[in-house]
Amino acid sequence: MTSLEDLPIRDDLRGRTPYGAPQQAVPVALNVNENTHPIPEDVAHDIVARVAAAILHLNRYPDREFSELRGALARYLGHGLGIDRIWAANGSNEVLQHILQAFGGPGRAALGFAPTYSMYGLLASGTGTAWVTAGRDDDFELGPETAVAAVREHDPDVVLLCAPNNPTGTPLSLETISAVADAARGIVVVDEAYFEFADPGTPSALTLLEGRPRLIVSRTMSKAFAFAGARVGYLAADPVVIDALRLVRLPYHLSALTQAAALGALAHADEMLAMVDEIRAQRDRISTELANLGFRPYRSGSNFVLFGGVDDPAAVFEALLERGILIRDVGLPGCLRVTAGTEAETTAFLEALAAVASSAENRIAT
Ligand SMILES: *Cc1c(COP(=O)(O)O)cnc(C)c1O
Repeated sequence: MTSLEDLPIRDDLRGRTPYGAPQQAVPVALNVNENTHPIPEDVAHDIVARVAAAILHLNRYPDREFSELRGALARYLGHGLGIDRIWAANGSNEVLQHILQAFGGPGRAALGFAPTYSMYGLLASGTGTAWVTAGRDDDFELGPETAVAAVREHDPDVVLLCAPNNPTGTPLSLETISAVADAARGIVVVDEAYFEFADPGTPSALTLLEGRPRLIVSRTMSKAFAFAGARVGYLAADPVVIDALRLVRLPYHLSALTQAAALGALAHADEMLAMVDEIRAQRDRISTELANLGFRPYRSGSNFVLFGGVDDPAAVFEALLERGILIRDVGLPGCLRVTAGTEAETTAFLEALAAVASSAENRIAT
């Protein structure tokens, strides 16, 4: 058998491991921050009708500029954004890849604040961009002084700000974002994958776009929008940034089926997002109950909670899995991460964790 090492693979990819969140069929999957509520059936029927209509034209390439979809995304985002400021791709991972292809690359560096979204480093390596990380303040917060000091020290070509941050859930203030945008020479990306789960009234970095042509705000339909399987991510930025991304995208990168499905979901945005308040309530319930159990939940503006005070994260992860509950060991010492599910899923998780924590082998740290 040939091994990877025997292939003439790029030197900078040798020894790397692919993105690998476990995919397992379990009754309660709370590991990758999906919206665990299914798509409402009437919305599903409308999406099917739209996809069915698109199928009749699959002999032709799709609209390369996906103008109708960009229009719908612009309307959804509001903030007076026109379609010339919108871009989309197959998941915000591809959106981020486009950004790094256009603004990163060999001889260039991207900066992030660890611990942060594991895909940033992988997307950087795939595009030949150096990946540099700086630290955070206490409790994974990121204040303007710490962020700006790292930007000054590393002078990156691209800064990736995850707001709120995955895997910690930490919200990021507009103060930090605007300070980074002012200090950075390069592109500043604000990844708002979980923005819809922020407490009502929380301002988006979209409010900072005007007059900042190097600032990009990315979003996804994978989380609050309950559309992870469709693969649709998007961003808002200056029209010139969009022109830069056109240079690196593959022609017709968004299939006619994806465009039709996304338009169907966006036409029912209110219904698709109806469960967000409920998910936020389950998140807050998780934080309260984890604290009651003696764990240490971190502040979350997302649909998941990172909690510390776990003596043996790997053992607790396995014990929960034996009970049919899949959460995430993100590799942070003493910590685990759980997605807020339906009320029933959340109850199953909390009850199983209480049982696991009280059993002798997995006694929690005090
Ligand atoms: C889940 C997630 C995304 C979304 O990825 P998609 O490719 O849109 O599914 C982006 N950024 C962060 C931080 C995430 O956690």
